[in-house]
Amino acid sequence: MSSQQISATVTAVVAVLGGGVAGLSVAAALSHRVPVVVMEREDVLSMHSSGRSVALYDPTYGPPVMRALTSASYATYTDSSRQSPAWTSPLGSLYVATSEQANSLAELMKRSGNDEFAVRHLKPDELRCMVPALKSDLFVGAAYQAAALSIDTAAVLDFYRRTILQNGGRILLSSAPISIEQGGGRWKLRTSEHLVVCETILNASGAWADEVARQLSVPTIGIEPRKRTAAMCTVDRLDMVANAPFVFDIDERWYFRREPGGIIVSPADESPTAPCDAQADEYDVAVAIDNVEKATVLSIKRVVRSWAGLRSFAPDHELVTGRDPAIPGIAWHVGLGGFGFQTAPAAAELCAGLILDGAVPSRLAAYGITVDAVTVSRLRPSIAA
Ligand SMILES: Cc1cc2nc3c(=O)[nH]c(=O)nc-3n(C[C@H](O)[C@H](O)[C@H](O)COP(=O)(O)OP(=O)(O)OC[C@H]3O[C@@H](n4cnc5c(N)ncnc54)[C@H](O)[C@@H]3O)c2cc1C
Repeated sequence: MSSQQISATVTAVVAVLGGGVAGLSVAAALSHRVPVVVMEREDVLSMHSSGRSVALYDPTYGPPVMRALTSASYATYTDSSRQSPAWTSPLGSLYVATSEQANSLAELMKRSGNDEFAVRHLKPDELRCMVPALKSDLFVGAAYQAAALSIDTAAVLDFYRRTILQNGGRILLSSAPISIEQGGGRWKLRTSEHLVVCETILNASGAWADEVARQLSVPTIGIEPRKRTAAMCTVDRLDMVANAPFVFDIDERWYFRREPGGIIVSPADESPTAPCDAQADEYDVAVAIDNVEKATVLSIKRVVRSWAGLRSFAPDHELVTGRDPAIPGIAWHVGLGGFGFQTAPAAAELCAGLILDGAVPSRLAAYGITVDAVTVSRLRPSIAA
């Protein structure tokens, strides 16, 4: 072997395909115990979904397992002693309901528990006090989540990146595998510059999860990427949202959040699309602006920046994580939907526990999280585990 070939060989226990929050968080969790390598197709990390979120942590938001993982991530997200800069700041979230949406509000109040993440019912006059910009006569009430946080997503991603490197892991950019072979209990993944040899491949490729599955000759699981649009706008009366929480239409038909110098608006679109570098469509931005102008007394003055990203869902909208019981040496961490950041600390801990110990960590089992709820097997019952 030439020295050039030797320097290009990377050996790890786990090779992670995908350098978004999914791949980086799990690689960081694994790197404390085993050698890892992250392979990212792009020449920078997190340029797809993970670079496009609106950075909300909200334990009210999402389907049951996602909410449990979000609650289980709260301690990490609020432990400022371990973070510099702090990963989160207080925000709060408000789910507003018109008279036609009274049932949705009642359902949300009903499913809210009595714990630290319980929501509080607000009447229209309380709404007006909290967000003077809202046309409170349009709404019969709202649910308020005081525990919602704003996440510094760049700080979180950078922490995971540094953890991987500090633990001796590798991060390879511009490195999608060109070929993948298996033999002797090892995988060999070739890129134009590297040969990666590993025991387990973790598919953390977001919207590309089924594409990667095909390349691995593994049955696909029906991951559906859906486009979501957002736009940062200046408004005429910023003082009227000065201390506003994140405001959702209770049926998620629009939302906005305050920012320094303006607000971020979204039509909460969910258009199914092929995996791609998603771009904002002017029409979707216009719908977002129209919705927010109808619900508030604000006028949007200027769109400073608009963007779109893909939220990728499993058919049941829950996380798919852990080893693939049908295919030795393959694991998954996909289907993070619109919850990839708010669940990241606990979801990564879960995936690492399932890969290395074959079990849900006991801390997470206490939140009701089970293997059955997150295993890939639930999505293809016809394949014997
Ligand atoms: C507009 C918007 C707002 C959002 N707001 C929030 C929010 O407020 N809170 C929240 O928690 N979540 C939010 N989300 C969701 C969150 O951003 C996603 O759940 C999360 O980023 C998904 O991370 P990921 O790592 O799975 O995907 P990605 O970040 O897309 O990463 C997947 C990576 O895999 C790489 N890849 C693909 N194929 C290969 C291959 N063959 N080899 C190597 N690499 C490959 C891609 O290049 C990509 O970098 C939002 C999403 C959008 C779009």
